[in-house]
Amino acid sequence: MQGGRCPECGLPPDGPGRIVLIDDGTPAEGFPDDPEERCSRCDRPLWCVVQIVYEEEGEGAIADA
Ligand SMILES: [Zn+2]
Repeated sequence: MQGGRCPECGLPPDGPGRIVLIDDGTPAEGFPDDPEERCSRCDRPLWCVVQIVYEEEGEGAIADA
């Protein structure tokens, strides 16, 4: 299965899952019921959750490690 997409989830072999957003704490439109879901075939996460956090005005990167 090298170089091909998984026939189950359709994701490319080395790409991330489908990107879904949490917009300032609120799941955006199209957000899955189960963002932890994995493909039953290739066992990769189907979703790549990106949290958008709006910084307070002013300077400073907020480290949240
Ligand atoms: Zn798959």
